[in-house]
Amino acid sequence: MTKINYTNVAIYNHEEQSFINNQHIVVDTDSGKIVEVGSGNSTGKVCDQVVDMKNEYVMPGIMNAHTHITSIPTYWWNDGKEQRHSDSREFNTMFAIQNMADAINHGITYIRNVGAAFDIDIEIKKMQQHGWIKGPKVMTSGKAFSITGGHGSAGGYEVDGVDEVRKGVRQAMKNGVDNIKMMVTGGVLKNGETPDDIQFTSEEVRAAVTEAHHKGKTIAAHAQGNAGVKEAVEAGFDTIEHAFDIDDQTITMMRAHHTVIVPTMNAMYAIYKYGKNTVPDWAREKVIINIEKHFASITKAVQSGIPIAMGTDAGTPYNGFRNESAYEMQLYVEKAGMTPAQAIDSATINCARAMHIDDEYGQIVAGNYADFIAMTENPIDDISVIQHDKDVFQNGIRVHAQIVNQESSNPQKVSSVG
Ligand SMILES: [Zn+2]
Repeated sequence: MTKINYTNVAIYNHEEQSFINNQHIVVDTDSGKIVEVGSGNSTGKVCDQVVDMKNEYVMPGIMNAHTHITSIPTYWWNDGKEQRHSDSREFNTMFAIQNMADAINHGITYIRNVGAAFDIDIEIKKMQQHGWIKGPKVMTSGKAFSITGGHGSAGGYEVDGVDEVRKGVRQAMKNGVDNIKMMVTGGVLKNGETPDDIQFTSEEVRAAVTEAHHKGKTIAAHAQGNAGVKEAVEAGFDTIEHAFDIDDQTITMMRAHHTVIVPTMNAMYAIYKYGKNTVPDWAREKVIINIEKHFASITKAVQSGIPIAMGTDAGTPYNGFRNESAYEMQLYVEKAGMTPAQAIDSATINCARAMHIDDEYGQIVAGNYADFIAMTENPIDDISVIQHDKDVFQNGIRVHAQIVNQESSNPQKVSSVG
């Protein structure tokens, strides 16, 4: 058993909504867990090593509740029309391994993947658990559920009618997923549909929720327009992804159902900002029509106290696995009215709760896994400092690699590479 005492740390505290100075964290690297958190530097525990953290600001590792590890942000189009590379299992797997490394090097210690062709995330999770690849811990969804020809139908399950939905969800759980992902409405990155289209019927979504919950699994709805969001909330989905448009009635329903929203604001913002002439016009036009509505919708949810779990939709154009998660938190402050502490909570304790792992993740307390990041500047003063270089610890051990390409780690400068 190896115990390390990390001394001279300022630890983020959810109750206080701020950092508490002059603390220490004792970790057991065999269990990967925190065994003690306290003030001052001394501990009664016998430690093998003492690491002076030089008063750095320590918060739980970033959790991202909406990723697509098999996709890369430069995947999409060369000239607004043509795909850059094949959709093969091999390409998808290679990107997943690269994205896993990017994520952990940028402080993301847990992801919930919500849609992976070939169920690749299920295998990636095993590889990470064995230590064969580097990366965040993974909550899997395998292939997402779509109606025939619907949003995300390429690479997902195409199911129609209650019986096919039920059979499909049971199959996904048999394959080993942790979570079910269902495309309830249309979306941006598919031509011939809009975010306001309802795709699955209320009977179909209810069947999916029932099956997932019967087996103790969570279920996430891709739902953008207000009518589709309402259908999903009413059916009992645990999380609503995107939520471009919600009204007061939807808020009331969300309160009653304890629904969590995963905003993915950077998915919209990155296409809006960098997608001209590369992302097809039909997709970019949907972003332009919806982006203000989306920001207003998330602002309304924040003001109404609906829990927000940070998610970026990583893998969409110009939206990857580096500092985009930290940038998403900045968007919550700048475009959705969160305090910096609320933005930190969105990417830590709120994600842990939404993923039903808050007994072991999301806060720096004894008994939780020792997954945390350390920064020289205080994110409460300026949320953007989380995008600066930082130390990353997983299961109590420093895992941070020197970032070679500093330029591309900045979401503002992510450019398409041909
Ligand atoms: Zn997505």
